[in-house]
Amino acid sequence: MSTSGKKLPLAIENIETATFDCVFPRCGGICCKNGRPPVEPDERERIEKNLERFLPHLRPSARAHVEKHGWLTKRVKRGNPVIAVEGGWCVFANEGCTFQKVGMAEGEPWKYKPSACIRFPLDQAKDGTWYVRQWGHRGEAWDLFCLNPKESPRPASESLRDEASFMKHKASGASRGESP
Ligand code: SF4
Repeated sequence: MSTSGKKLPLAIENIETATFDCVFPRCGGICCKNGRPPVEPDERERIEKNLERFLPHLRPSARAHVEKHGWLTKRVKRGNPVIAVEGGWCVFANEGCTFQKVGMAEGEPWKYKPSACIRFPLDQAKDGTWYVRQWGHRGEAWDLFCLNPKESPRPASESLRDEASFMKHKASGASRGESP
């Protein structure tokens, strides 16, 4: 059932013009290349507690890196440490996101995934304004093909509905798994 036409739960400044369509697995999950998402304290705790369950799904070289150096780095983005990169990819990337695969198997795809990854390509400016990352908007510097508004005719107001709901739910202070 199409959900277009319904109001999104978040005010997003360029929602009227933005387009986006995730074509994974056709793209190979390229947004996770050198991804380095920041991980919030509750997300860190959830990942740490379940780390053993993710390890078997990692690339062998990424697993070796995590076992030797850990999965978080000292590098900080937006006040939180970022996930390590190995071989040019996020250590949890292995033809898709390991968190998503394990979460899906449990019936909740976003259970373990950092919110920085869930919300992509939604982003929030320092003043709190939400926007869709698009070439030509707010000086977008990433040449990732799917951020090209000409790449897909699919309105972001339709394709990013779940992501917007998730961020709204998170902003309300609710935990994952609670109904929005
Ligand atoms: S945590 Fe998952 S979605 Fe985020 S960059 Fe790593 S592999 Fe990609």
